[in-house]
Parts: sequence; C-alpha cells; structure tokens
Amino acid sequence: MTSITAYGGVGEIGGNKILVEDKGTRIFLDFGMSFKSRGAYYSPPFLSPKSEQALVELGILPRINGLYRFDKTEPAFDGVFISHAHIDHSGHVSMLKREIPVFCGETAKTILQAVSEIRPSNFESDLDGVQWKTFRTGKKIKVDSIEVEPVHVDHSVPGAYGFLVHASSGTIAYTGDFRMHGPRKDMSEEFVEKASKAEPIAILSEGTKPIGFYLSSTLRKPPYDH
Ligand SMILES: [Zn+2]
Repeated sequence: MTSITAYGGVGEIGGNKILVEDKGTRIFLDFGMSFKSRGAYYSPPFLSPKSEQALVELGILPRINGLYRFDKTEPAFDGVFISHAHIDHSGHVSMLKREIPVFCGETAKTILQAVSEIRPSNFESDLDGVQWKTFRTGKKIKVDSIEVEPVHVDHSVPGAYGFLVHASSGTIAYTGDFRMHGPRKDMSEEFVEKASKAEPIAILSEGTKPIGFYLSSTLRKPPYDH
C-alpha cells in the first residue's frame, strides 16, 4: 500500500514536505521552509534560530527520527526530491542527513548552491556534503519500490519540475509550483498531458489562497512520533 503524509504545506503557502511511503520505501517530495511557523518565532536578522534542535523543538521542523543531521539514529529515508529552488520547497535541505540523497534538476542544484554560497554562513545555509543526484525531464528514477518521473513545468524560477510518482498502489501526480500563462507554458502543458495519461490515484497541488493540497485519497495526519 502507498501512503501520503503531509508534514508541511497544508493550510499554509509553501513549506511543502510530503512523505510518500510504499512497501518500506520512504521518500519526501520537497523539503521546504515553512514561512508561517518560522515567522511565528523568528524575525531575521535580529532573531534567528541557533540550531536544528531548536527548529524541531518549536515544531518548525517535524519531529521525525532518522532524518536530520543532529540526530544520531540511522537514516530512515531513501531520498528527497526537490521540485524547484524556491526556499519554501527546498529551504530545509541543509538539515537533512547527508546519507540521504537529494534529487533535483541540474538548474535547481546550481541555484541552491549559488544561494548557499552568498547567504550568511550558518547551519541553515550549509549544503556541504549534500549527496546531489540531478535529473532532466523524463528521466525515471527508481528508488526501491517507487519510480519517480520528473517532468518540467513553467514557473517563476527556472529548472522547475512536477513529479509523477509511480508506486505499488498507482501513480501520484505532484505538480510542484507551475504556471500556465508564462513563456514556457508548453512545459506545464506537457506535465498535465503526462499526468493525465498516467491516470493518477492522487493529485497534489498547491494553491495560494491558501487552499493547501487537494487529495483524491485520504490524507493522513502526521503522527509526530515517527
Ligand atoms: Zn515556487
């Protein structure tokens, strides 16, 4: 059975951290920074977090074992797929255990690394040792029982993708952020076409009103004691 758990991005704009589990395989779709929960406690540059632990203790990062650098337990996740380089989708990649591979487009990796270099040096901007695995549109990536098919979309940052996540229960279509009115709307149309052909059992898409995620299957509440 395939399950989807939203650890961020529901009832807020961005902060997406969507866990897909399938036959023991566990991947995240995006690992973004939640502006809403972070902004409730911090106001940079005067008030900034001091550690990963502080972010977890305040609930800004979900309390999950086997995921974060400071946590000494074994890695319990098989990969993190970043749809694009906006911070609300990628901003907490720095917190992840370095054994967990991070999949993203070539362009997104270039942007993330460049931003990391020019931001003030601290634990939130530190991408040293990240195990990047880059892809281009259409390249299917097998992670045990899950196969992820990235398809480019048009967005306000280059190198944006949606994902078709082929799992044992069927395909989940994750749109990432996209627009249909931009100069490369043909890329978004291609995603829609491929997603349609895959006959997905669930579609995850973000709205900015905010409307969170629409799911065609049941959304599990995060257990927080994983
Ligand atoms: Zn975006």
